[in-house]
Amino acid sequence: MTASETDIIETSGVSCHAGAEQLTASATAAGKSELLAQFAEDYPKGPHDQPQSMCPAFGSLRVGLRMRRTATVLSGSACCVYGLTFTSHFYGAKRTVGYVPFDSESLVTGKLFEDIREAAHDLADPEQNDAVVIINLCVPTASGVPLDLLPKEINGVRIIGIDVPGFGVPTHAEAKDVLAGAMLEYARSEIQAGPVARPEQTEAQRDKPTVALIGEMFPVDAITIDRLLDSLGATAGPVVPTREWRELYAALDCQVAAMIHPFYTATARQFAAAGRALVGSAPVGVEGTTAWLEAMGTQLGADRASIDAAISTQRSAIRAALDNNPIDATITLSGYEGSELLVARLLIESGATVPYVGSACPKTPHSAADAKWLEDQGVTVKFRASLEDDLIAMEAFKPDLVIGTTPVVQKAKEASIPSLYFTNLISARPLMGAAGAGSVAQVINSALENQPRMLAMESFFEGVGHGQTSGVWTPEIIARTGAGGIC
Ligand code: SF4
Repeated sequence: MTASETDIIETSGVSCHAGAEQLTASATAAGKSELLAQFAEDYPKGPHDQPQSMCPAFGSLRVGLRMRRTATVLSGSACCVYGLTFTSHFYGAKRTVGYVPFDSESLVTGKLFEDIREAAHDLADPEQNDAVVIINLCVPTASGVPLDLLPKEINGVRIIGIDVPGFGVPTHAEAKDVLAGAMLEYARSEIQAGPVARPEQTEAQRDKPTVALIGEMFPVDAITIDRLLDSLGATAGPVVPTREWRELYAALDCQVAAMIHPFYTATARQFAAAGRALVGSAPVGVEGTTAWLEAMGTQLGADRASIDAAISTQRSAIRAALDNNPIDATITLSGYEGSELLVARLLIESGATVPYVGSACPKTPHSAADAKWLEDQGVTVKFRASLEDDLIAMEAFKPDLVIGTTPVVQKAKEASIPSLYFTNLISARPLMGAAGAGSVAQVINSALENQPRMLAMESFFEGVGHGQTSGVWTPEIIARTGAGGIC
């Protein structure tokens, strides 16, 4: 019996219903203390312990499923895997989610690890796959299932095992970083070991310095950024997380990594280890774009005249777009995508009053400039914001419009406040440059126009829908419970 198998047996009493504290203690006892320490450094918690969002592992699963020629396999409790599979197909994965099931016996005897290894062998077909990703969910992580003991490659197919427990990785945004960082680390080790396959690149990407774009973004934003970089003598490289393995090499070959989404800490570590410069924030609004072009131009070694010319052209184009699409409203904003601060900057430059921005992600060096800019405008910026924080902000600031997560929007609707889902309606639009300035205002102003309809609905339904005025209260129920009154 190996040490790892002994650890599994000693910690196999955990279930996914155990609290974060017990799961953490089990994982520590099972030899995962180094991993948990790295998570604590990369994804610091607090002031709240656990922001409320979907299972964090969804972020890693999504990154794996969106990558071509990559098989993604979950190892965890059936209930967790059911939820993750459902969510991935809800978001249009159109790919098979692999699953290695377990029971207490296979967990106790170490057979689960053998089953995972067998699954990796089955999927390691170089005709089909470049990589196989195995994701340990809460219970296998807490039980010490040692994915680091899997072979690094089988038949030339890379095997990447990662632990993504909810008690170590607080949000699905950061779970994207766990897998993106692991793949970059693997690709970097391949580059260090010798020549690698040439990535597919445009002529510009071959001839000019490139900037890797960190964070999933609306496709038009990548095009906008490419145009901005062109004026600095550079071009946009791949977006990380990438869509295929060879793009990882191209991404690492950049001159600068643009940390568009600031929470990609493990990813940033890989770029820093490869000697690449990192630039935070993004080209949003007049001031954001000015600061970004300045920082990017400096890191790219562009001459002063080119930087000034790029800034001057963009300032007038974005100013015109903002002036043509003003927003006159008070808006509170929260989300778990990591781009909340960028959106808030754009709203403020469009004329909106934004008293509160909440992000489920932590503060990082790459969001510091955006946080400072917002705080200088009098905005309360709350990192690791909880649902309660977002709701208190809504009640305190009485906004004309609420942008938030599903439960926040639900509360806003109940209060007849126009509201927009951050993920579906804001993240799915361009934000950068002049294109972003016009686009966000459109959706905001349309939502604001709904206020009279919401008030009409509120008055129509007045008196029903809450407490004893909701549901069906039959005479039997009223007699049995002593509650209710409408039947
Ligand atoms: S893997 Fe962990 S965080 Fe995800 S659903 Fe299961 S118990 Fe919850």
